[in-house]
Amino acid sequence: MEIKQLYREIVNEHNLNPVHKGKMENPSLVLRGVNPSCGDDITLQLKINDEGIIEDAMFNGSGCAISQASVDMMADSIIGKKKDEAIKLSDTFMGMIHGEIEDEEKLEELEDAAALKDVSHMPARVKCAVLGWHTMQEILEHPEKSISNED
Ligand code: ZN
Repeated sequence: MEIKQLYREIVNEHNLNPVHKGKMENPSLVLRGVNPSCGDDITLQLKINDEGIIEDAMFNGSGCAISQASVDMMADSIIGKKKDEAIKLSDTFMGMIHGEIEDEEKLEELEDAAALKDVSHMPARVKCAVLGWHTMQEILEHPEKSISNED
């Protein structure tokens, strides 16, 4: 299978069958992320334990396939990580999307999210791809911005 087709299938699978979509009971941190240029609108919910490890990550909301797949992949890759490790992964993802990081070994740390590499050649979709990651980084760096998890 051609690598681009494989990437497309990974993105489709996360979009059609997201693993981490839904409402979390008693999240530690909640933040809404909006990309007005496309209409992507997510609410990210994180559960963080006393050791600062992200025990669970979920999202709600709607948007285009790239935004939805990206936030689901992001959740996959940060669960079990410490906050600072998750922020580093976000930096790696941003670097990939902006075409600044191409080192395969580094990109493997992103797991499925590396399938969005081609977005670096689609400027109109960059904001869709980074929405979930940007929201995650923002709430970890500024937990005081956390909102209530009401719909
Ligand atoms: Zn979008």
